[in-house]
Amino acid sequence: MTVPKGMTERVLLAGGAGFIGSNMADRLLERGAEVVVLDNLQTGREENIDHLRSHGNFDFVAHDVIEPLPAAVLKGRFTHVYNLACAASPPAYQADPEHTMLTNVLGTRNLLRLAEAQGARFLLTSTSEVYGDPEAHPQREEYRGNVSCTGPRACYDEGKRAAETLAFDFDRLGRAEVRVVRIFNTYGPRMDPDDGRVVSNVICQALSGAPITVYGDGSQTRSFCYVDDLVEGILRLMAHDGPQPGPVNIGNPHELTVSDLVERVLRLTDSDSRIVEQPLPEDDPRRRKPDIGHAKALLGWSPKVSLEDGLKATIPYFAAQLRRDEPVMRF
Ligand code: NAD
Ligand code: UDP
Repeated sequence: MTVPKGMTERVLLAGGAGFIGSNMADRLLERGAEVVVLDNLQTGREENIDHLRSHGNFDFVAHDVIEPLPAAVLKGRFTHVYNLACAASPPAYQADPEHTMLTNVLGTRNLLRLAEAQGARFLLTSTSEVYGDPEAHPQREEYRGNVSCTGPRACYDEGKRAAETLAFDFDRLGRAEVRVVRIFNTYGPRMDPDDGRVVSNVICQALSGAPITVYGDGSQTRSFCYVDDLVEGILRLMAHDGPQPGPVNIGNPHELTVSDLVERVLRLTDSDSRIVEQPLPEDDPRRRKPDIGHAKALLGWSPKVSLEDGLKATIPYFAAQLRRDEPVMRF
């Protein structure tokens, strides 16, 4: 949306203290936007946004999006509302499934109502998980998915599906203009080293010489997108004017097995960690790869960072995180 003449781009960034949100905050501030981060710090970390605290265009409000939005947020007009609030790592979102479901449903509704009241464009960060354990490969936006509604991942998958429904209903009824991005596995600096995702686990294990945990036999596939590419895709989607484009996959179509990923990380870190197989979690999708034809045609977007380069940029970040956590030796 073109920002109306005389107005500054002013963004409410729910979930902005998390991995993707804090990278997004940097980009928005760099281009002159005002940014208010709203976050309950469930999986987000203060250190992700500490460097922004003294920035004149930045503000932070501690708040859970399930609850009615605080007065501090309601004063002043936002041109854009970005909803990134939701734990993304399976162990994190499964730790309190009721909260995950409500974050997606009530949180999205609260933020959609704010966008409606303020005439702001709304972004929902949906997920490739709406395709479940997909029978169609690669996954196109038209594919309706194969989600288990009773399994341990359902609080997240079904929560996101319900959030998409709410968002498209607001748009269809003319209550808010929405954009929905379906994000595929993304990695990069500011991931929480302890959040249990495969990229963070494997890099930290390799760097510290700990056994590498491969769930199942490692033949399941994922397609990993570097965070800068994702942020660029989302910003283009939010700037896209015109009729409702429907959900848009943003991800890197380079598909590889978990075993391939482990092999690459071991080589790049020069690690001799051994591999231990652990049970495959219930409902773990077998294959995942985005079809990004829609994003290419609509936004002229495709990822630029290869897995090799992305891992080379991410490994030093995790190395610094591990050094920071080492006990300090005093003599
Ligand atoms: P993250 O866990 O690092 O960030 C999520 C942020 O939301 C955290 O700062 C957390 O504290 C905050 N949050 C969670 N519940 C909240 C609530 N009820 N109220 C206020 N704040 C809340 O995860 P991320 O990887 O940065 O993911 C950001 C968004 O992108 C999420 O919506 C996630 O579902 C989506 N997504 C991410 C990926 C990925 O690979 N990282 C893939 C698909 C979708
Ligand atoms: N995985 C793994 N070892 C780990 C963490 C995850 O083998 O230490 C596997 C997991 O079972 C899944 C894939 O890696 O098949 C990606 O897991 P992640 O949690 O990163 O993302 P998601 O399952 O949500 O795609």
